[in-house]
Amino acid sequence: MLYALGAYLILEISLGAANGKARKKVKRRANGKCEGCDRQLEKIGSRWQRHNKGKAVNVVGHLNHANDERYHDADNLRHFCRFCEALYHAKHIGQAHLIGLTEIDNSSAAMAWFTVLVRESPRKEFMDFYRENKPVLDTLLAQFKKDLESFTEKHAYWRR
Ligand SMILES: [Zn+2]
Ligand SMILES: [Zn+2]
Repeated sequence: MLYALGAYLILEISLGAANGKARKKVKRRANGKCEGCDRQLEKIGSRWQRHNKGKAVNVVGHLNHANDERYHDADNLRHFCRFCEALYHAKHIGQAHLIGLTEIDNSSAAMAWFTVLVRESPRKEFMDFYRENKPVLDTLLAQFKKDLESFTEKHAYWRR
């Protein structure tokens, strides 16, 4: 797990976050809703954020992570909730090259976000997400030789 989170941080640093101007444009376009699932995006200072001591709530994520001239285009960015960012990477396991990543970097990104979800989401919200996306999420867990039961036992706050 430390490995996965570490690799993800390195990935984030090497790719760099979306630049400020593009970020603003994308947020304006999204208008408070996740561009993946349409759920209302959490606001800074929301209950979720307070509960999780100010941690990142939403993401301006890249569709294609290849660092080319389109990298910071608004067309290449989505304002995602944390669930959709995790799912986007998980869905591309086995075809990471399509989104400009190596398999290991993509799996690490998916797992890092998945860990955030397990650690910090309310049980019901997490389990609904898991059930809706079970095949994809089981593939992700299998990549790291985990199953949901042992993983939540170790990480989920509702089981601590
Ligand atoms: Zn979403
Ligand atoms: Zn991403």
